[in-house]
Amino acid sequence: MRMTQLLMPTLRETPAEAEVVSHQLLLRAGFIRRSSAGVYHYLPLGQRVLRKIMAIVREEMDAAGGQEILMPIIQPAELWLESGRWHVYGEELFRLKDRHQREFCLGPTHEEIVTDLVRHNVRSYRDLPLLVYQIANKYRDERRPRFGLMRGREFIMKDLYSFDRDEAGLEESYHHMYTAYSNVFRRCGLTFRPVEADAGAIGGTAGTHEFMVLANSGEALVVYCAACDYAANVEKAECSFEPPVDPELPLAMTKVATPGQRTIAEVASFLQVLPAETIKTMVYLADDKLIAVLIRGDREINEVKLLNYLGCLDLRLATEAECQAVSAGGAGYLGPVGLKDVPVYADQEVMGMMRAVSGANEPDAHYVNVCPGRDFAVEGVTDLRLVQSGEPCPHCKTALTTARGIEVGQVFKLGIKYSKALNCTYLDEKGQEQLMVMGCYGIGVSRTMAAAIEQNHDADGIIWPVAIAPFQVIIVPVSTKDAVQVQTAADIYQELNREGFEVLLDDRAERAGVKFKDADLIGIPFRVTIGNKYAADGLVEIKVRKNGEQFKVPRTEVRAKIRELIQHSLVHNA
Ligand code: ATP
Ligand code: MG
Repeated sequence: MRMTQLLMPTLRETPAEAEVVSHQLLLRAGFIRRSSAGVYHYLPLGQRVLRKIMAIVREEMDAAGGQEILMPIIQPAELWLESGRWHVYGEELFRLKDRHQREFCLGPTHEEIVTDLVRHNVRSYRDLPLLVYQIANKYRDERRPRFGLMRGREFIMKDLYSFDRDEAGLEESYHHMYTAYSNVFRRCGLTFRPVEADAGAIGGTAGTHEFMVLANSGEALVVYCAACDYAANVEKAECSFEPPVDPELPLAMTKVATPGQRTIAEVASFLQVLPAETIKTMVYLADDKLIAVLIRGDREINEVKLLNYLGCLDLRLATEAECQAVSAGGAGYLGPVGLKDVPVYADQEVMGMMRAVSGANEPDAHYVNVCPGRDFAVEGVTDLRLVQSGEPCPHCKTALTTARGIEVGQVFKLGIKYSKALNCTYLDEKGQEQLMVMGCYGIGVSRTMAAAIEQNHDADGIIWPVAIAPFQVIIVPVSTKDAVQVQTAADIYQELNREGFEVLLDDRAERAGVKFKDADLIGIPFRVTIGNKYAADGLVEIKVRKNGEQFKVPRTEVRAKIRELIQHSLVHNA
């Protein structure tokens, strides 16, 4: 491709709307343009990267036995009513009506429609396992579309669905997909980690892993163990708990004055106790019901665990007025003793406390020597807290490390959730009707493009991993006025193209400095420069974007050197 013909509208300034580096660079380097909130155009460079990622995804899905299909984006409401998700999905679902007032949605995911396809077209155990997938646009009316391609309202996903005869079959399909996903992200040149994730509404024994590209800008927090291979999204991470071996003896509970002391830190310092010796009481609105949750003062509540435990759809912290309704002290003096008419749930650690401090449900007062179980009763006790860095690994007790990650993919054992709701069955060897056992597996293709940049960039721009770079090589003649340089650049361009490399020729009549800057900005892995000394010494410069390494090679050796560099980086996934 000649740059003079390429639609590549680069920007000098960082667009104000872009908060994260991938969004900034994708706009600045002319890979994407915004159409409306969370909806983007992919310009030629962006589209080339997407196609590279998709090609890797396709190869790995096909190798794992997947068959590519293409399903409708417009999906009838009836299927979503059948699965029960029409009302559950809420405002994220783009809904529309046709001219006959029939309701539809734009697919945010395709479990319903693929199950409908399979139930009408697959009958026998001989046809299973069946793995079908597509790469297509998905639509989610995200509450906060942001970070460019990271969280769009229209985005590209690869979604695969597996249909098996039984749980054992699902295990096998899941295992194949897990391996295929690892291959995809490794081949894309990314540093990633599969982590145990929360199964959400499906819950139960359903297993699920998220594939996280590790980057500081990631929205997700993960913990991992350096000693064993335990890794989990903090939303999911179990917290170890060992009851004290030699518990303190309880003392009589007493009320003390704590004027103006509302926060855990204030109360702990005022009463000269550790935050770990206090009980933090939080009131939530779970669907339409107020509930209270107790956690040790130095801990945080894991709202995902809480939501799953309660089995509710919606969960938010109570407002001050709602707190006042259950406690005369308001939010600052909440405590489990004397709380009005709300079920109380406690994190397991709380029940091991013997002489705790808690709010007294009246202004300016706390109780000391509160003994859970003796001084108040609870509705339920479970693990409700957020894991912290340095805690012991639940498998091997080594201290856990935290890292931020970008969720680029997720694999999920659905079991019979959808096959049961939509009656998707097959006939087994005995002619008996059985429910198919399903799995679903998604990769955010457009998000992967952004994640690759979050992980691979510097002050000058993008540093594409070679496997997903829009072009592998960029050729820059330093002076377009020098006929020898221009001719040599054109010759090398043709030669490399003939060899099957993906080459961009910067044939613009720009200053060398501008061309170098743009080459760095768009992140092409290898730059071939034909400079002013070329006519004299016949040497061409090859520069590696990733580490700045430079080679001077005779004109005739350019092709071999480029081949060597590309092969080396693909083998090493750089
Ligand atoms: P998130 O928690 O980030 O909202 P999700 O868990 O809802 O994502 P899935 O339903 O698991 O997403 O979708 C599969 C993949 O699609 C995700 O792993 C992610 O890479 C991608 N994805 C999901 N939502 C978006 C979005 N709004 N924009 C871009 N990619 C997305
Ligand atoms: Mg997910």
